[in-house]
Amino acid sequence: MSSKSILISGAGIGGLCAAWWLSRSGYAVTIVEQAATLRDEGYMLSVSGAGMRVMGEMGLLVQLRQAGLSMDRHLYLDVRGNTIMQFNHGKLMAQLDHQTVLRNDLANILHQSLNDTANLQLGTRISSLQQDEQGVDVRLSNGQAGRFDYVIGADGFRSTTRRLAFGPDTEFCQHLGMHAAAYWMDAGTQLEEDMVAIAEPRRMSMYYRLGSKGITALHIWKSDLDTAATQEARKDQLLAQFAGSHARVTDAITNLPATRSIYMDALMQVHMSEWSRGRVVLLGDAAHCLSLANGQGASMALAGACCLAQELAADSSPAALQRYQQRMSPGLHALQVRGRKAASLYLPDSAWSFRMRNWIMGAMPKSMLLNYFLKSAREEIHLADHIQLRQLSKQAA
Ligand SMILES: Cc1cc2nc3c(=O)[nH]c(=O)nc-3n(C[C@H](O)[C@H](O)[C@H](O)COP(=O)(O)OP(=O)(O)OC[C@H]3O[C@@H](n4cnc5c(N)ncnc54)[C@H](O)[C@@H]3O)c2cc1C
Repeated sequence: MSSKSILISGAGIGGLCAAWWLSRSGYAVTIVEQAATLRDEGYMLSVSGAGMRVMGEMGLLVQLRQAGLSMDRHLYLDVRGNTIMQFNHGKLMAQLDHQTVLRNDLANILHQSLNDTANLQLGTRISSLQQDEQGVDVRLSNGQAGRFDYVIGADGFRSTTRRLAFGPDTEFCQHLGMHAAAYWMDAGTQLEEDMVAIAEPRRMSMYYRLGSKGITALHIWKSDLDTAATQEARKDQLLAQFAGSHARVTDAITNLPATRSIYMDALMQVHMSEWSRGRVVLLGDAAHCLSLANGQGASMALAGACCLAQELAADSSPAALQRYQQRMSPGLHALQVRGRKAASLYLPDSAWSFRMRNWIMGAMPKSMLLNYFLKSAREEIHLADHIQLRQLSKQAA
């Protein structure tokens, strides 16, 4: 067994998954997470393709399915409450191997699977990094210092590790021209279907019924601003962005308690020619963020974690970090190209293009429209599946 040590920054999807695989290969793993608890931002994501295979190899498919949500009936309304489109999303997606789950539930499943094999320090972040050929000296925000064989930055698309070891965000982040916000709704909110969307030119509000867990809201709007507003400013920003929308949208935002935590950030892709520098390597959104324009971010964080750990298990030299990138990046590049195209079509700019799109969707036979959605989701999963996850079982055993 190797006694090499790894520090992971970020207890998100990629960080927790990497900890599982690396601790099984004999690495001593420490994770630092800046949040005081594992974050719960009330948004859902879908695990599919390579992500499902990784969860399967970790023996976590049962837990994933148990925590999973079914979002069967989808209803799209315009701002006057007229139906634009209605369909059974669950029936459509049942044809694909995927699972919809709250991000926080997925993180909790991964966390529990660690069984204390990694040392998780909440409320802590990296303050500084300095590396030489043999290791990385790290100072933490809690005053502690340590030396590690490797540091993995799995701290999201605004990664601190990336900033410290590679350079400022502006060098790597590409804005997709949209913002997103998500939060939990008040208990007692009613929805007529599992998912109700209120679509408008340049903005959309979506409400998801999550059984006993409650209802979450997700807003997406066009904006080139590169800001992550402070928690205190988010409610007012949302109110300003959705002024004049349907009353159920504006009322829901107005009635949000000031203490309600709101996720809000720009939609960005991260493009980097090198994912590692010496003994510091990036994982998941920190290295190659896709954003929600793709629906593959979580699966790619899981696949990347497994791939990186496989390479470090086979050879603990820094060359392993380059092999990890070589395996991952062709599929990621194709997904990013696809995501940029999808983002440009997602929210029509003008009232005219919005009405035109709705008219075309209304005029198309429903089966044709649904086949188009299915084909598109299948193509995306297929691209993500190109990541080579070889010999999974051998290492999981
Ligand atoms: C609204 C929304 C909807 C989405 N929908 C989908 C979807 O349908 N399908 C999909 O696959 N993906 C979706 N995604 C993307 C998906 O959530 C991410 O791609 C995935 O979580 C990436 O995993 P990660 O480990 O790289 O980062 P994350 O899971 O974001 O984890 C990063 C962790 O690092 C922590 N952190 C940040 N900074 C520091 C620091 N300085 N020090 C220590 N810790 C730090 C954070 O608190 C967090 O816990 C969505 C994202 C959003 C925002």
